[in-house]
Amino acid sequence: MNCEIICVGTELLLGDIVNTNAQYLSQKLSYAGIDVYHQIVVGDNLERLVEAISIASKRADIIITTGGLGPTDDDITRYGIAKALGVGVVLDEHSLEKIKERFVRSGRPMPFINERQAYIPAGSKAIENNNGTAPGIIGEYDSKIYIALPGPPREMKPMFEEQILPYLIQKSNYTIKSRTLKVIGVGESALQEKLGDIMLKQKNPTIALYAKEGEVHIRITSKEKNSNEADKKIKEIEHKIICILENNVYGYDDDSLESVVNDLLQKRKLTVSFAESCTGGMISSRFTNVPNASASFLNGIVCYSNEAKINILGVKRETIEKYGAVSMETAGEMAMCIRKLSKTDIGISVTGIAGPTGGTKIKPIGLCYIGIDTGNEVKVFSNIFNGDRNKIRRWATTRALDILRRTIVENL
Ligand code: ATP
Ligand code: MG
Repeated sequence: MNCEIICVGTELLLGDIVNTNAQYLSQKLSYAGIDVYHQIVVGDNLERLVEAISIASKRADIIITTGGLGPTDDDITRYGIAKALGVGVVLDEHSLEKIKERFVRSGRPMPFINERQAYIPAGSKAIENNNGTAPGIIGEYDSKIYIALPGPPREMKPMFEEQILPYLIQKSNYTIKSRTLKVIGVGESALQEKLGDIMLKQKNPTIALYAKEGEVHIRITSKEKNSNEADKKIKEIEHKIICILENNVYGYDDDSLESVVNDLLQKRKLTVSFAESCTGGMISSRFTNVPNASASFLNGIVCYSNEAKINILGVKRETIEKYGAVSMETAGEMAMCIRKLSKTDIGISVTGIAGPTGGTKIKPIGLCYIGIDTGNEVKVFSNIFNGDRNKIRRWATTRALDILRRTIVENL
């Protein structure tokens, strides 16, 4: 089954409001296994609305409108549907009672024009509105379904979710399920190459790549009549992808890199501390996004100047004088020092040149050393990140968290 969404409102055409109703409905319909091929916006104009409904009736099984169900002259949706169907409007007594009750409850007299809201196209049914006066409308004509919902999202959403969606799901016989795999350390084009074969062959489930900063998300979407069958098909593809990408898949759906790292640390009862120079506390900040981070994250120090690295962290002055603050040697010592100082199982350090000045031929802007001390060994990773100052710092933060993740998974 396919559906066309028609949002009614001159405000939408003028750009005064954003069409969030269309976005919401499209998303919900897709989860219910109903394809949306067209979204239309039409102003508060009867003739053009009738035209839009007539066109939609030729190509869609379900036509959903939002807006224009109010009591004023510019609220024309009920008349538009009736006219497009070639029927009149009739008074729905039950709706009129409900509207009257609503006004009695609010202690206001009902303006006469509100009676209009109780009129629906002949042959349709009214849908109760528990959050406003305008009832919705649902009708089946010539095996097509016509649904009219109120414009305000706080009225439209509950009406759709509670009364329309269950009805449509029962009619559609399909469900759409999806799962997102989160990948780090492989760029979008490299991923395309690695997964090219699977992606080309795959029709159901489908596989789509979404590039994000520092990571790529792979969305597997399956459309099946049976929900268990959809889950099974997703699992099969997921397994194939993991066999190819292995450890580069760090998590699923709502996981974030920091939440995954935090889970790994807590499962293994490990603690961590960070010594940050060019990231200026970004790693600690990102890590503390995770609720319950306190069980694994014990200490973070921003040691920006050489003196801070020496006096607070305990890096040897000779190391900095001989190799420089941005060096393998300093990064390694920073990781060791923060681990000992904080009495944690793991110490992580970052020192680099975020720019826009300070770069040289040997040490260019974007050069960042990330050190990790696990108590068993100290490793330092050299990276060159592209972009402006903030981007370099964000990349360094992500890379440091990923080094921590990979070290735990592979060695601890
Ligand atoms: P009312 O009884 O409030 O007049 P209505 O069903 O006639 O409701 P409209 O008059 O079309 O709906 O719109 C009322 C308000 O609902 C708009 O001012 C806007 O705030 C919101 N709204 C309408 N359509 C949309 C939409 N497509 N996306 C988001 N918000 C919308
Ligand atoms: Mg209105």
